[in-house]
Amino acid sequence: MDAATCQMCGRLFMKQGRSPYCPSCSDVDFQNFLKVRDFIREPANKQTTIGALVEATGVSELDITRYIHEGRLIIKDNPALAISCVRCGQPTNEGKICSNCQRDMQKELSSLQESLTKQSSIRAYRLD
Ligand SMILES: [Zn+2]
Ligand SMILES: [Zn+2]
Repeated sequence: MDAATCQMCGRLFMKQGRSPYCPSCSDVDFQNFLKVRDFIREPANKQTTIGALVEATGVSELDITRYIHEGRLIIKDNPALAISCVRCGQPTNEGKICSNCQRDMQKELSSLQESLTKQSSIRAYRLD
């Protein structure tokens, strides 16, 4: 275990897992997450935007964006609640990366794998 500085209150604490917060702030953070999640689940709030969500829950946009990036908050059913894709910056409600970029990355990955396979077969041939 390492000592770390809490990202919320600045207190020193013993780090457990990946949370950037001390145990008491983690509790607050989790309560905030539940507030946000429950709010966007309401059918009446399907069209809510980040701004309206911040106002209604009192949770900062930064934290809400983090919940989405961490995959904890699913906003697929809330089309107006778009955050910017970390890759191209276009608004998306698919999570961290928009569907276009997901497709692109899939393509890049398979061409990378293809060239790696080619390289290793060349190497194998030389070794023979
Ligand atoms: Zn703290
Ligand atoms: Zn993108």
